[in-house]
Amino acid sequence: MRCQTSLDVTRTLVVEECWVCGVTFAMTAMFQKNRAANGRVFFCPSGCKINYGPSRMEQLERKLDAERTRTQWERDQREATERSLAAQRGVVTKLKKRKEQT
Ligand SMILES: [Zn+2]
Repeated sequence: MRCQTSLDVTRTLVVEECWVCGVTFAMTAMFQKNRAANGRVFFCPSGCKINYGPSRMEQLERKLDAERTRTQWERDQREATERSLAAQRGVVTKLKKRKEQT
């Protein structure tokens, strides 16, 4: 004797297509959101190991590193400009003193 049970469930799922093999599958919005946020690997129904790329934390760390590099470059430029201006002021002062003596 065969026992058959059915369950009717209504859920909203996010439909995705595996970017490796092309199989269509679905997941909960929470699962997708978490995988996108943490960059962790998951598997499509065919077994492809996939992820949504770098986690938000990794993206923010890269952005922070880029900002630090840019800030350091701007600081170096400002300091070089200040040194150049100081040197030019010294030349101007020397020329003024020379002119006053003549
Ligand atoms: Zn796949």
